[in-house]
Amino acid sequence: MTHTKERNQSGIFLKYKGEGVLFDCGEGIQRQMKIAGIKLTDVTKILISHWHGDHVLGLPGLIQSLAASEYAQTLEVYGPKNIQNQIRGVLQAFGVQKPPIPLRIQEVGDGLFFENNDFFLSSASLEHSVPCVGYSFQEQDRRRIRLDIVKKIGIPEGPLLGELQEGKDIEWKGKKVKCEETTTVVKGRKLTVIVDTVATRNCIVLAKNADLLICEATYSSKEKDKAKQYKHLTAKESAQIAAKSSVEKLILTHFSQRYKNTQEIEEDARTVFNNVICAYDFMRVTL
Ligand SMILES: [Zn+2]
Ligand SMILES: [Zn+2]
Repeated sequence: MTHTKERNQSGIFLKYKGEGVLFDCGEGIQRQMKIAGIKLTDVTKILISHWHGDHVLGLPGLIQSLAASEYAQTLEVYGPKNIQNQIRGVLQAFGVQKPPIPLRIQEVGDGLFFENNDFFLSSASLEHSVPCVGYSFQEQDRRRIRLDIVKKIGIPEGPLLGELQEGKDIEWKGKKVKCEETTTVVKGRKLTVIVDTVATRNCIVLAKNADLLICEATYSSKEKDKAKQYKHLTAKESAQIAAKSSVEKLILTHFSQRYKNTQEIEEDARTVFNNVICAYDFMRVTL
């Protein structure tokens, strides 16, 4: 939440195929990315949770640097209500009347807002002191060929197997071959990111069955009154969301500067949900 000697403000980078999705863009994000060995131009989409400084102060700087590095694509930025005006306003404050790179800014609310053949993105409104949304990234389910079965039938490698994989039934030697009998469905991986909210039903809906939930835990339960006052989650509440939405793994982030280390936060969460760790700067996770 606040810069400390050890911790930067918010920024989570997801690399998936040709896509670089940045969740929030706190101050100092460019230097963090350089230290982590991530090229700024790898960012294709920025998903802003809400317009509070610790989540967006890095945005004008990043856009300016992308312009200076001949960023060749359209940067997509998503965010809650009013995001267009806020981004244009911050650029104008620096004397930039027209975005220096192709920029597509889209407001998101509840539900699906992006989809391609590989993955889809959805959002859900949360409850904070300003409009705020949580995000899910989910791979499309895909079909895997059951090699033992297709070998037995005698289908050779090639376009027919491709059709089965796409979910189509085919014909082989005058007989119908069903994709359901020759393929298995591999569930797509899911990541949910929830920051700056009180515990709401939407948190559970959004994170349902995620392989990984990255969730704020600004305070431990000892400070639950403060969490309520500033509309944040305690570690225990984050763990309750993880348990209720049956996620596989929970990573906590966005800690108050009062915590010099994260032991108290982690222990608080572990009273409810065991597969939990606290994030640290430059942490890498493979899903
Ligand atoms: Zn925050
Ligand atoms: Zn906030």
